[in-house]
Amino acid sequence: MPVKINRKVPRREKPKPGGAVRAIRRSALNLMLESAKGALPNEFAGVLRAYDGVVTEVMVLPGTEQGAQAALYKFHMLPADRSVVGTVHSHPSGNYWPSGADLDLFDKFGTVHIIVGYPYNVNSWQAYDGRGRARDIQVIE
Ligand SMILES: [Zn+2]
Repeated sequence: MPVKINRKVPRREKPKPGGAVRAIRRSALNLMLESAKGALPNEFAGVLRAYDGVVTEVMVLPGTEQGAQAALYKFHMLPADRSVVGTVHSHPSGNYWPSGADLDLFDKFGTVHIIVGYPYNVNSWQAYDGRGRARDIQVIE
């Protein structure tokens, strides 16, 4: 009797936009650190895109005003696919704790927000939840 071989390869599911964020790709982290350096003396501001709970992309929204005082977001410019899970911005002062205005922003939208502080290296950033509480996020390759 011939042996029936099941050649069906399990289909890889397409990564779903968004998800409960647990990690960030090192490439995305490096991009935000470099973007923060490039924006000096101003703040850099962008949004975080995640797929299956991993932040893979940093995006600057068209029309985002970047100034020394505050970075203003144009939330109507967000992509409609739910991939945007939060924000990232820089603090040229070096202090990477959220300001009062930051807390208002975090509260409005998103589940993970990153502040990178000068000198913008791998040790000068912190992730926060929507309530401004520091939260861990794993850096993966
Ligand atoms: Zn801030």
